[in-house]
Amino acid sequence: MAHTTGPARIQLAGRTIELAWLREHSTQAATLFARARAEVGHARCLCRRPALRLVIRCTRSGRYHLAGWPGEGEHHHPHCPFNKLSPQLSGRDRYSTQAIRETDDGVLIHLATPLTSTLTPPEPRNTTRNETAGEAVSRRSVGLLGLLHWLWEQTRLNSFHPQAGHLTWRTCHARLHQQLHATTINGQPMDEALYVQPPFTPATAAVNAAALDAFRAQLGRHGTTERRALVLGQIRAVTPTPYGVAYRLAHQRTPLYARAALHTKATRSYRHAFSKAAAEHAAIRIALFVVERSAKGHLIVVDLAAMLTNRTFIPADSSYEVVMADALASHRRAFVKPLRYDAADAVLPDFVLTDVTPAAYVEVYGIHGQHAYERRKAHKQDFYQRRGRQVIAWDVSQPLPQLALPGR
Ligand SMILES: [Zn+2]
Repeated sequence: MAHTTGPARIQLAGRTIELAWLREHSTQAATLFARARAEVGHARCLCRRPALRLVIRCTRSGRYHLAGWPGEGEHHHPHCPFNKLSPQLSGRDRYSTQAIRETDDGVLIHLATPLTSTLTPPEPRNTTRNETAGEAVSRRSVGLLGLLHWLWEQTRLNSFHPQAGHLTWRTCHARLHQQLHATTINGQPMDEALYVQPPFTPATAAVNAAALDAFRAQLGRHGTTERRALVLGQIRAVTPTPYGVAYRLAHQRTPLYARAALHTKATRSYRHAFSKAAAEHAAIRIALFVVERSAKGHLIVVDLAAMLTNRTFIPADSSYEVVMADALASHRRAFVKPLRYDAADAVLPDFVLTDVTPAAYVEVYGIHGQHAYERRKAHKQDFYQRRGRQVIAWDVSQPLPQLALPGR
């Protein structure tokens, strides 16, 4: 298939329009969207010839937006905003449509953690089978790490392209926010259920503080229901308190509080995100918190998932992967970090290089002599051989391998 580079262009009801313009002017383009939906049924992405179909969605608030056609993500050009890795390279594939369902109105997500609880005795919950049945059964709900990975993958924050340059929190926030508008979680609009910490600027400080207050006000007891919500931000520091810890977030003054036992559990479950080694590489810790409001109005963390990223928000499973992501970026390689979601046992390459055809894999081998690790490594090598892919491997006891794009 041929391809074109430059800004992403879309064909909508017979007209060719830049995607960036459409995203910013979706209200202005509403007539065009409605016509395309009624007359053609879809839009077209012009990153390839022949063009690829795009789903036209209309959110509950009447806002139109475009999404990749199911199962066609890997056919889009690697630079295209609708490009996705093959389903075998993502933990996304492990969920049933009960957990994540894509509809014409947007995406419906069933989060395993309830966001409301009634103050009457609860019905016995029947979700344990889902968690313990393992491989064969697809998951019927999404865990916190799964949701964090879904958000990152959906907004392409796990991919790097040298022409696009380094991402800032401002871009992350904007992309995440756009996704939230088109998503429903546990029956609730996700832009109400999840607060993404906005970037701090002196000009917006007052507006941001008011938004956080409004968010906090909707939590707590309403009649016979207790409302919780989600907060997404960067953990800047963890400081001790008399009862546990306070999570201090970047761009925000209000801390989130957690009991010591929860923090201990989190550091065990997400040990790379909380490791000291990560801090040495200017890495970032992204966390998704489930919060409640205390009687005094504090935000109390009742559960969390944490994810390590490099300084430009590319996720990494260890501090060595942070080093690799930085090195790939400095060699101007285009790459994607495959995300495992809640599937801890998924066999995925550590990074996928998308500037070569077919895409090549990058593996970071860090620990020697552990039986489980060696077995996993053998399993991975077998997987690559079967797929016939080029693999660049880095044994971390050695210097970094040659990473430059051949012929550049
Ligand atoms: Zn495309």
